[in-house]
Amino acid sequence: MTLSTQELLLSRIRDVADYPKPGVMFKDITPLLADPVAFTALTEAFTEFCVRHGATKIVGLEARGFILAAPVAVRAGMGFIPVRKAGKLPGATLSQAYELEYGTAEIEVHAEDLSAGDRVMVIDDVLATGGTAEASLELIRRAGAEVAGVAVLMELGFLGGRARLEPALAGAPLEAL
Ligand code: AMP
Repeated sequence: MTLSTQELLLSRIRDVADYPKPGVMFKDITPLLADPVAFTALTEAFTEFCVRHGATKIVGLEARGFILAAPVAVRAGMGFIPVRKAGKLPGATLSQAYELEYGTAEIEVHAEDLSAGDRVMVIDDVLATGGTAEASLELIRRAGAEVAGVAVLMELGFLGGRARLEPALAGAPLEAL
């Protein structure tokens, strides 16, 4: 991605202080989604990364990951697989719990959506503590599939998500565009 494309994407991310709770700087991507040039540039960059690393399926993490991953899946000709918060998928699921700052959360995938022979790229908007992405990699492996990598728009480096993800990545690439 060129520097000017990175600058364009950065310019379309709005920082919202103290949302959804005090002390959090929320990275709002809705201005980027509303700009077709920026959204297309982002989709192309994600697609190039997925193709380069030999992905065959794209996982999007609820909820903004769905919006970013779906056009990549269409463009790349790969299946889109939603990883959702617990209780939202109607079929037989695999579940994975993970630690939050206070308490735990759980994500799920339809068991039939991933299997041996799949190479799966995970796409989301923000990598923060890395807990959600780490749990998604567990789900992919438990389904018998291979991890192609993780691609996010932004990484909040000070939260240490990259280091937390490293063991679960097991050498697969992590890209923050
Ligand atoms: P984590 O599991 O801590 O890496 O959190 C990642 C998930 O939470 C992603 O799906 C993000 O959409 C969301 N998230 C965490 N922190 C932020 C933030 N500062 N701004 C926007 N989204 C965030």
